[in-house]
Amino acid sequence: MAAEKLYDSIIIGAGPGGLQAAIYLGRYNRRVLLIDRGGGRTSHALHIENFLTQKKIPGREIISLGIEQARSFHVEIVKGTVTNIVKDQHFEVSAEEEKYPSRFVIVSSGATENLPPIENIHKFFGDSFFTCIDCDGYRTTGKKLVVVGNSLHTVHLALAMREMYTEDVTLMLYTMTVPTVYLEELEENGIRIAGGRPKRLVGDSRLEGIEMEDGGIVACEVVMSNFGYKLNDSFLNTLHLKKDSDNFKYATSRSFESSCDGLYIVGPLSGNDQAIIAAGEGALVAIELKKRLLEQ
Ligand SMILES: Cc1cc2nc3c(=O)[nH]c(=O)nc-3n(C[C@H](O)[C@H](O)[C@H](O)COP(=O)(O)OP(=O)(O)OC[C@H]3O[C@@H](n4cnc5c(N)ncnc54)[C@H](O)[C@@H]3O)c2cc1C
Repeated sequence: MAAEKLYDSIIIGAGPGGLQAAIYLGRYNRRVLLIDRGGGRTSHALHIENFLTQKKIPGREIISLGIEQARSFHVEIVKGTVTNIVKDQHFEVSAEEEKYPSRFVIVSSGATENLPPIENIHKFFGDSFFTCIDCDGYRTTGKKLVVVGNSLHTVHLALAMREMYTEDVTLMLYTMTVPTVYLEELEENGIRIAGGRPKRLVGDSRLEGIEMEDGGIVACEVVMSNFGYKLNDSFLNTLHLKKDSDNFKYATSRSFESSCDGLYIVGPLSGNDQAIIAAGEGALVAIELKKRLLEQ
């Protein structure tokens, strides 16, 4: 079944990026549809403490307040998963058996963490098991920390955590061995290297350590995991958009327009993975669309 009306903009994803764009466009009295499947990364953030004016706010609350605010400016919000976008004269966005036409599209569908196969992660996720230095590095201050990963980047992360947050750092690499050029620096910084594979996070209400496959326990209060994330972008495949030099994120202009005219991409799909940055990018795109819609 085809939805009749032509939207000025369809926004994919009700995270900070999409909601901020929706609020701006709603306040330009534009016809805006926001499609969201729910359960994004922001809703997994137990407490966000680096968002201006919010000393400590659960990610879920940012989302629910943002949805309420966007609705108050007449933004239509539907629950659903976008599966495809095609462009002819206008964009046509497919979600849940519906096809929605629009002049512009803003993609703010975020990313999904790659988590290592360690039991009990979800019990401690966001509380003492972290995946992002910018989000939660501060919360490891002065604590007994394990940095777990499997790349050179993980070694750099352990050194950065030591410099900024805590003297008590253990580096745990899955299959990789630490390159010898780093051994001296790690030792100088008092960073321990744990061998073997982690199996399970242990502790009742508080994290107490990581049980290894050989049964040994590496004591810790917090874990910083470093396995990156995948982009929520499968619905963009048919557009064959340009990517960056690592062929991972999408290449965009300074106003976040992708290589497809009229399709904008914000948040971790094109750049940084921080709530306030995604929100700023959403605002910026909306201001750009204000101009382009007036020109049309
Ligand atoms: C545990 C944790 C703690 C964090 N702490 C902080 C912090 O302290 N400070 C900070 O700035 N940032 C923090 N972040 C990161 C922050 O949440 C992200 O930077 C932010 O989510 C990016 O916003 P976004 O709008 O791009 O994406 P998201 O918030 O991920 O929202 C994307 C939305 O799009 C939806 N979606 C995806 N695919 C589709 C599809 N095909 N169709 C429809 N909808 C779709 C998702 O379900 C989701 O609702 C944290 C993240 C996590 C996981």
